[in-house]
Amino acid sequence: MKTAAVILSGGKGKRMGASVSKQYLKLEGEPVLYYALRAFEKSSVDCIVIVCGKGDEEYIRENIIKKYNMKKEVYIAEGGKERYNSVYNGLNTIEEKCPDTDIVLIHDGARPFVSADIIEKLIKCCETEGACVAAVKAKDTIKISDKEGYIRETPLRETVWQIQTPQAFKYDMIKKAYNFVMAGDTRDITDDAMVLERYCNQKIKLVKASYDNIKITTPEDMIFGKAILNNKKVSSADIYK
Ligand code: C5P
Repeated sequence: MKTAAVILSGGKGKRMGASVSKQYLKLEGEPVLYYALRAFEKSSVDCIVIVCGKGDEEYIRENIIKKYNMKKEVYIAEGGKERYNSVYNGLNTIEEKCPDTDIVLIHDGARPFVSADIIEKLIKCCETEGACVAAVKAKDTIKISDKEGYIRETPLRETVWQIQTPQAFKYDMIKKAYNFVMAGDTRDITDDAMVLERYCNQKIKLVKASYDNIKITTPEDMIFGKAILNNKKVSSADIYK
């Protein structure tokens, strides 16, 4: 099956409070975005679309694709106002540049610690299930609150998962779901599984990923990111391989 990846790098990262978007901040000397691209480069994905903010194309071409000698088919698409706008642009670019794609993986460029291993697990699962997402079981007890900030209910912890990316879908199905949602109700969309949930009753499988697969969001995440990298003992020799 032909597979493609949409890697999102179109956010401004306001919660990081830095002048540079979070996906370009340096983690042990390399831009955050580079690490996710490296995992997809190592994986069996056929085609990669990076979605970035207007004006960032040159930086990505020169400082990531060329610098690290990426060999895969890589295309760049322009990001949109919200995450779902960026995903939609990425899906349209896949249609144009990577025709006949069967499976698409959608990934936050701000999640540098995705592994080629989890990418393969998702592709395999998607082949049979049609839709699946990387996730970890919640370690904490999760409460649902009311609008006034009081506890409304407590879901059974063993049924509660934290959802990550990549999220993998049969391309035609997620594209139809996005077409449907973009023409109607885009309120509160924070991930791609939600788009599919709004469109149809397709079952979406949870695939156990890693607690390391964090999203770099606030300044302390850079400290956690450094610790995760050092724990993985990634030397710069590995990085330039
Ligand atoms: O803002 P959030 O942390 O949910 O962003 C998740 C991912 O989506 C990040 O990699 C970010 O760059 C990307 N994004 C995007 N276009 C936007 C907003 C976010 O590509 N308009």
